[in-house]
Amino acid sequence: MSNRKPLMAGNWKMYKTAAETRAFVEAFRPMVVDAAHCDIAIFPPFVSVPAAVAETQGCDIGVGAQNLYWGKEGAVTGEITGHMLQAAGCKYVIIGHSERRQYFGETEADVLRKTQAAIEFGLTPVVCVGEKLEDREGGKTEAVLAAQFDGGLGPLTPEQFAKVVIAYEPVWAIGTGKTATPQMAADAHKFIRGKVAEKFGAAQAGATRILYGGSVKPDNVKTLMAEEDIDGALVGGASLDPKSFTAIVKY
Ligand code: PEP
Repeated sequence: MSNRKPLMAGNWKMYKTAAETRAFVEAFRPMVVDAAHCDIAIFPPFVSVPAAVAETQGCDIGVGAQNLYWGKEGAVTGEITGHMLQAAGCKYVIIGHSERRQYFGETEADVLRKTQAAIEFGLTPVVCVGEKLEDREGGKTEAVLAAQFDGGLGPLTPEQFAKVVIAYEPVWAIGTGKTATPQMAADAHKFIRGKVAEKFGAAQAGATRILYGGSVKPDNVKTLMAEEDIDGALVGGASLDPKSFTAIVKY
């Protein structure tokens, strides 16, 4: 057993209005009040963040955003900065989700700048890495993870890196109902932890939380969480329902 406290994180993607967010938290909050074994975070769309922050006042459910832009403010139409997220009450922000890499062309340089900006504004970045199906089938999983780590996280200072949570999300497992086997996930987590050790040292590797994401459900979370190197879950679809996310939180 590691002494890393698990983080169970719900990425709501482009779901839930402010009213739906309030209804979710009203149902979810009493069900997880005794879940002290892990940290819990929800990631609503930007416009529902204030409702989530208001409804989670006085409890241990953290709120995060799903993206940010670097810088404090500026003439960048349609973007939101870490400063704004912090002021709105966010504690976390997801960076480099595969949907953003695929649909919006986010690069490692973007991931790095966004991660630095998150840290500057006191947010915990949850930085996503993961291979596509063709990478896995072509035996390139480790090369892809290494390139994502080296470009998006490697240039951080040790002080900056200490604030990072990594999420390993094989792209072929996201929203598809196909979960990586616990062994596949464990191997990838071990590889990423090895990269952390190489770059930032063994103590940091022992402290960094690495979440698994990709079709995590109430019925597979336990076997995934039994793996030594899996420190929590980034959950999409199954985090939208309060009962299902509670079952995951209380694996
Ligand atoms: C995600 O959005 O990061 C995710 C893993 O989604 P899902 O759980 O639906 O596969």
